[in-house]
Amino acid sequence: MLELVHATAGGIIAYKIGSPLLSLPLAFLSHFVLDTLPHWNPNLSREKKKQGRISTKTMFVVFFDCLIGLFLGLKIASLALPDVNKAIFVIFGCFAGILPDLVEAPYFFLNKKIFFLKNLIKFQGGHQWNVPFVWGIAFQLLYLFVLFYFL
Ligand SMILES: [Zn+2]
Repeated sequence: MLELVHATAGGIIAYKIGSPLLSLPLAFLSHFVLDTLPHWNPNLSREKKKQGRISTKTMFVVFFDCLIGLFLGLKIASLALPDVNKAIFVIFGCFAGILPDLVEAPYFFLNKKIFFLKNLIKFQGGHQWNVPFVWGIAFQLLYLFVLFYFL
């Protein structure tokens, strides 16, 4: 799943539920639930295996995905203002939503080999419902509409 969907889900969960003790773990868990829905995203594991590195094109996709995710996260957080605490905590929700992918980044982009990452990458790789690009993007737009509907 694209990070912008994960970030939006995490942020909206934090915004709607309120209590950090409850919503941050839920935002984190939402990551694994969302990945089981049909989606498309760049296949970093496959690229890394085939070419030993992530292509420039894919880096662009990841960069813009994260940039839009950041924008959407800040947008949701801004709705909590003037409650600054809540706004910050919504941003934490966004990060909790992308955390499982975020901790994998040193492996994919910096070639860092950390033992627990291998298991996490394997686990995450096994829990994806990847569909062709057009459908995968269309589904994710639908998820965004549903998420913002709940906001
Ligand atoms: Zn993931």
